[in-house]
Amino acid sequence: LGKGLTAAALGAILEARGLSVTMIKMDPYINVDPGTMSPYQHGEVFVTDDGTETDLDLGHYERFLTTRLGKLNSFTSGRVYLEVIEKERRGDYLGATVQVIPHITNCIKEKIYKGAEGFDISIIEIGGTIGDIESQPFLEAVRQVKQELGRDAMLMHLTLVPYIETAGELKTKPTQHSVKELRSIGLQPEILVCRSVLPIPDEAREKIALFTSVNKEAVISAANCKTIYQLPRVLHEQGIDEIVINWFQIDAPKANISDWDTVSSRHLNPKHSVTIAMVGKYVELADAYKSINEALVHAGIKHLAKVNVIYVDAETLEEDGISVLQEVDGILVPGGFGDRGTEGKIAAIRYARENQVPYLGICLGMQLALIEFARHVAGISKAHSSELQPSTPDPVVGLITEWRDESGETMQRDASSDLGGTMRLGAQTARLTPGTKIHDCYQTPLIQERHRHRYEVNNNYLPQLEAAGLVISGKSEDGSLVEVIEAPDHPWFVACQFHPEFTSTPRESHPLFAGFIQAALERAHHQ
Ligand code: GLN
Repeated sequence: LGKGLTAAALGAILEARGLSVTMIKMDPYINVDPGTMSPYQHGEVFVTDDGTETDLDLGHYERFLTTRLGKLNSFTSGRVYLEVIEKERRGDYLGATVQVIPHITNCIKEKIYKGAEGFDISIIEIGGTIGDIESQPFLEAVRQVKQELGRDAMLMHLTLVPYIETAGELKTKPTQHSVKELRSIGLQPEILVCRSVLPIPDEAREKIALFTSVNKEAVISAANCKTIYQLPRVLHEQGIDEIVINWFQIDAPKANISDWDTVSSRHLNPKHSVTIAMVGKYVELADAYKSINEALVHAGIKHLAKVNVIYVDAETLEEDGISVLQEVDGILVPGGFGDRGTEGKIAAIRYARENQVPYLGICLGMQLALIEFARHVAGISKAHSSELQPSTPDPVVGLITEWRDESGETMQRDASSDLGGTMRLGAQTARLTPGTKIHDCYQTPLIQERHRHRYEVNNNYLPQLEAAGLVISGKSEDGSLVEVIEAPDHPWFVACQFHPEFTSTPRESHPLFAGFIQAALERAHHQ
């Protein structure tokens, strides 16, 4: 329905009023974190600066807010139960019977208060739907928080107002029922945001207000927008921030949200158009690559370009050949895990390199670009990654523990990353080589980008690869690990070990995506 987006848009407006805003996502599922969940079922795993693997809603939050989030900003039922059970095992509860109320709910409340610390406003999103069994402890905790905080807490509820086409009518009944359900557990909302395909007329808002005991002005209509970036404007026009400010009795200057208007109008009025092929695995579900899709849109906003994305299943490419790539202006291979579609992705990368098509490789898309170059340019015909083919005689990509030298010198790593087989996670510094494509994008030698991978380029092959022309344009700050590679004699072929998509925002775009789309636009113009 868009709870995350609505909450994030409200956060953006409150930031525009000079308030510091943070956001927390509470998810009712039992997984301890989303790190192990399939992006095909759940959407992408979003990674924060501090290396927390979280739900894609935190991506929405960071795209709308300037606050950077981290481990305090999301938790699941699984996390809460795990902590409570660990405490119980340690004997911390001194023999008491451990129960949902108060032990689970107390743990939830502690996390809410902890995450909110130091901010003027903390917006907490409760995952799931009212009436779900799983979300009950969260709602009870929220009820207690409201009791404890009084006017320092307020409740906003998002409902669906369906449009019945045959009757030509918007139906307010489901909203009435859902609020009734909330009130039966002791929760009275102060704001209702009603999602619908059409704006909700005044009489319907009055009716909803009457049945739900919410002030009429606080029944907000959130009809479908042409772009999600209009949401701050839509909510602000109806006075949502004024309602919040009044409730909390805060003095804050008026909101200037003209930057969101600029973003929306640039997004809706492109002057150019490019087509990008995204060659991946989870191409059926757009949410699996949510941040990349967004980052492409942001780069389009910057260049006033409509970015059309063709999702190409790498396995289909293996069977049907690369002909679908002939019409595109740029090729992107995103991150991923496992061997499915590997040869299709490598074929797409080879096509991009040999035909001067702009290429952006991200994480796995960088590792595969290196393998492609090793095989077809450097003559290492069996080059592979030990993740994808453990028996390969030429692991040009492997775990650090598989290829480090005896002296252990290459093991000098940031304290923030794990050694050996575990994941390298979160923001790390890379040093870029002046005069390279990537340095042109960032215009600065030191950058910070987020990582989420186990495998690394095998340094033992670098002399051979560089002799064949491969450009190593970025390394970790200590110089021990490859961060960015580029193909020589190519208009724009850049592949990075990190995930630039997680730090792209609509108001700023991201230098790497902006550079990629610019290269694609140049190609489109010359065709
Ligand atoms: N599977 C690869 C690794 O673990 C790439 C991961 C990714 O693309 N995020 O190194």
